[in-house]
Amino acid sequence: MGKALIIGAGGVASVCIHKCCQNPDVFEEICIASRTKSKCDALKAKLDGGKTKISTAQVNADNVDELIALINSFKPDVVVNLALPYQDLTIMDACLATKTNYVDTANYEPLDTAKFEYSWQWAYRERFEEAGITALLGSGFDPGVTGVFSAYAMKHEFDEINYIDILDCNAGDHGYPFATNFNPEINIREVSAKGSYIEDGKWVETEPMEIKRVYNFPEIGEKDMYLLHHEELESLALNIKGIKRIRFFMTFGQSYLTHLKCLENVGMTSIEPIEFEGKQIVPLQFLKAVLPDPASLGPRTVGKTNIGCIFIGKKDGKEKHYYLYNVCDHQECYKEVGSQAISYTTGVPAMIGAAMILTGKWNTPGVHNIEEFDPDPFMDALNKFGLPWKESYDPELVE
Ligand code: NDP
Repeated sequence: MGKALIIGAGGVASVCIHKCCQNPDVFEEICIASRTKSKCDALKAKLDGGKTKISTAQVNADNVDELIALINSFKPDVVVNLALPYQDLTIMDACLATKTNYVDTANYEPLDTAKFEYSWQWAYRERFEEAGITALLGSGFDPGVTGVFSAYAMKHEFDEINYIDILDCNAGDHGYPFATNFNPEINIREVSAKGSYIEDGKWVETEPMEIKRVYNFPEIGEKDMYLLHHEELESLALNIKGIKRIRFFMTFGQSYLTHLKCLENVGMTSIEPIEFEGKQIVPLQFLKAVLPDPASLGPRTVGKTNIGCIFIGKKDGKEKHYYLYNVCDHQECYKEVGSQAISYTTGVPAMIGAAMILTGKWNTPGVHNIEEFDPDPFMDALNKFGLPWKESYDPELVE
């Protein structure tokens, strides 16, 4: 059916590429392009021989001209950005120049400011509309499936949704005292930032990890979870009718928090460059270099994730509660694609988002967040490609 250019060859890209190869009628041809070509070649060597034709390329995704040259030579129908959030705008520029559709899993973040918001990418709306191409923003799990769950709840279960709590629980154990489950630099920037949520149309800011709750997660049990700022709050508050409050919680174990506090206290999580032996280095980037590579956690991680949304709203004038979630087992993911569940729960929706575009199911020109599209074909694909969802009409609510 079509051709996809996948940029990045890390944990998430690896899962997405495995999944494209499981869906060869849609992904007839893929090109894996990243900064380190040997990683692309290793993925190709692992997956070659199936129906999907695979090629590889070296690209620096910070360089728009290099991206344009690559897109012009491969001629993809969609570019799937699974590099880092820093590359979102350069890749969108190259897609505009070549009139190619675009998908990502994380919103733009400038390298020198730990701040993420949609304004930079939403500024491309008119240009994408005029070019007749689609940008699908945030097609991972959170953001991603959480937005699809919200659109599905709105379409099938509610007349209006007033409260959404997004709960992200990773009860996996990798056996290391401290490691992050996806890119350490992006992960630590996210969790060391101030928390925030939206209430009555306004952002309310909290200190990092200030708000803690204990939740009894289905199939996992009780875990401590903390309120974080998260990008999908911004788009869901605009796109879902009737929202009064929307919050995001993520679970952390005590060992992770103690290590993080210590690293913060000694300055290792800073993104301000310092001089070291005559060279400028960024402490957080140095820390990334000494931490375990998230892609290496697969064989050692046991346990499950549970990520989902609790909705409170109204149906036919009555208050209604609804919980949609997915439970994913780290070892099952490893058996299937050689990765742990965090990469898996992001890489599968990235493939599905690209498939929605390649099959023409989602093709409104412009720049769109995932909840703006019809959720039904995406929900069906989640069940088919390894992330089946479950629902409850009587969930425990978060205080
Ligand atoms: P990794 O660090 O494992 O992989 C990133 C890949 O991008 C690497 O292959 C890296 O190359 C490549 N890359 C980085 N910079 C460039 C560049 N300038 N040019 C070309 N390639 C580049 O990250 P993950 O796979 O863990 O995460 C990928 C994305 O997924 C991130 O944006 C992350 O924020 C997002 N994510 C989204 C989630 C969601 O639910 N929505 C959850 C988890 C992650 P090299 O090998 O040379 O370093």
